[in-house]
Amino acid sequence: MSDAFFTPVSGFDLPRFAGVPTFMRLPHVDFDHSRFNEVQIGLIGAPWDGGTTNRPGPRHGPRQLRDASTMIRAQNGATGVRPFEAVNCADLGDVAPNPASISDSLARFTAFYDRVKAAGIRPLTAGGDHLCSLPILRAMAAGAPVGMVHFDSHTDLFNSYFGGQMFTHGTPFRRAVEEGLLDPKRVVQIGIRGTAYDNEDRDFADAVGIRVIAIEEFFARGLSDVMAEAREIVGSNPTYVSYDIDFVDPAFAPGTGTPEIGGPNSFEAIKVVRALKGLNIIGADMVEVSPPFDTSGATAYLGASILFELLCVMV
Ligand code: MN
Ligand code: MN
Repeated sequence: MSDAFFTPVSGFDLPRFAGVPTFMRLPHVDFDHSRFNEVQIGLIGAPWDGGTTNRPGPRHGPRQLRDASTMIRAQNGATGVRPFEAVNCADLGDVAPNPASISDSLARFTAFYDRVKAAGIRPLTAGGDHLCSLPILRAMAAGAPVGMVHFDSHTDLFNSYFGGQMFTHGTPFRRAVEEGLLDPKRVVQIGIRGTAYDNEDRDFADAVGIRVIAIEEFFARGLSDVMAEAREIVGSNPTYVSYDIDFVDPAFAPGTGTPEIGGPNSFEAIKVVRALKGLNIIGADMVEVSPPFDTSGATAYLGASILFELLCVMV
């Protein structure tokens, strides 16, 4: 049971549009804060898109997601979960990237999450592009590979881009498997679709035993059946959840760099998260929201809502 300090500001006490925005109107608790060690789930901004190969902008995601998340209320309307009463949640602030250096940014990320992990805090990250997941896993899965449920229209399993560039938002999970951070036999990727360069990513998935569920299979079998299989694949051992907003159809989430048509709607986007209830989730992220392409703000609101659903299955 969390105490009043870790309770979000209520819209009954201060209108949602007022105040300094933090994730879900939670207290801002940085590493130096006297109550840092009491935090159980930390919401973290990852304002970095140094791995982006196409249309940029997710570096602006955390600020926009904080603003959109002021719409979130205390209780999940479908499941009744009241996450802020169940565990101590706080906004841990942003990782400070180095926008001029990929390698230095990766190191800064891992150093930040090392401290989060050392404090026993489970991270819920708002990206940022999908390369952010790699340095997070380097901290959270160091020495003990984890399973992963990955929602995306892309596998992000390519080897390299632009002549040997190994660190882009299309390569993080290839690196994570190679570095022993992910147990490929406990990884499931859901929603894969779109035009392709070739089959190199899918061939790698097949070779190491990653289960790829393309969007055609997702809709043919139905959400419940697919998610039951996903739960079976990751089992009860430690599992990371990575959610790329481009999993959702661009009609509902246009504000992202690499949209792919023919995806789930916004209701299906949250239902897949609810299906993760009870899994052993060590951390999660929601990445690739790009405010410059999100002219209505609808993508950021969907992203904030997905973050809330992730939080509700983590408590
Ligand atoms: Mn991705
Ligand atoms: Mn993607």
